[in-house]
Amino acid sequence: PAGAHTFTLTDLDVRALLPDPRPDGDKFTQGVPGIVAGSRQYPGAAMLCVGGAVSTRPGMVRYAGPQAQAVVNRWPEVVAADDPAEAGAVQAWVAGPGMGTDEGSQALLRHVMAFDGPVLVDADGLTMLARTMSQLEARRGRVTVLTPHGREFARLFPDLDPSDRLASVRAAAARSGAIVLLKGSRTLVADPDGRVAVNTTGTSWLASAGSGDVLSGIIGSLLAAGVPAWQAAAAGAHLHGRAGERAAADRAVGATELWSRIRVPGF
Ligand code: AMP
Ligand code: MG
Repeated sequence: PAGAHTFTLTDLDVRALLPDPRPDGDKFTQGVPGIVAGSRQYPGAAMLCVGGAVSTRPGMVRYAGPQAQAVVNRWPEVVAADDPAEAGAVQAWVAGPGMGTDEGSQALLRHVMAFDGPVLVDADGLTMLARTMSQLEARRGRVTVLTPHGREFARLFPDLDPSDRLASVRAAAARSGAIVLLKGSRTLVADPDGRVAVNTTGTSWLASAGSGDVLSGIIGSLLAAGVPAWQAAAAGAHLHGRAGERAAADRAVGATELWSRIRVPGF
């Protein structure tokens, strides 16, 4: 329901938001996202998230974490390291999918949160953040994107009413100073200034393990390419939903099937 400050993106809007590769561009102008994801317990999350980032056609993807070898075996073009301090320069960080919540993971998240640029936090990163929300409320001074599903949202913002998703996501963004993307069959993307994008793409096919990890990788690539954060999050949800629709139409099973079905407009 479109009301004041509520928006719905079309394919054409998304097309207009995403810059064509510049004829004189290089891999840095195309964007370099860094991914912190995966653990020994959840190795697949690293692959799903990196796959989402790679498939959104950035200039280069960097990965930092315990699955560096597995990531490079699958995508030799990814530059991977065990430690984000050794990963090299990035234009945006994504942290969280399957990264665990132990002390080592907390140190990784702290390192990423100190980055002087956009940071997207998802999944286990959100679980860790929920314990220290006051730090986020103090604001990073740089754009932060949070991508919770309903249960993660309730842990982050326990006092907000889960039955009023629109009011709650808007309040969460205003309070945290972050772009808040609340996942679901109608994903909502709230900017701290009150704007909310309502995503209309996708199918219940997307309600499967690892599908959210692919989404955070997609948005990471858009952030790294310089797309403003609210637009990047909303456009990422749109592209992810379209990929899910194509997978469902093909009777393809599993979140890995999303990678090849992400169609960046103009490409
Ligand atoms: P996650 O729970 O982190 O794996 O994320 C799940 C992804 O699937 C998000 O992008 C959701 O918006 C999407 N999703 C979950 N359930 C549905 C549904 N019933 N219809 C459409 N999309 C869904
Ligand atoms: Mg998830």
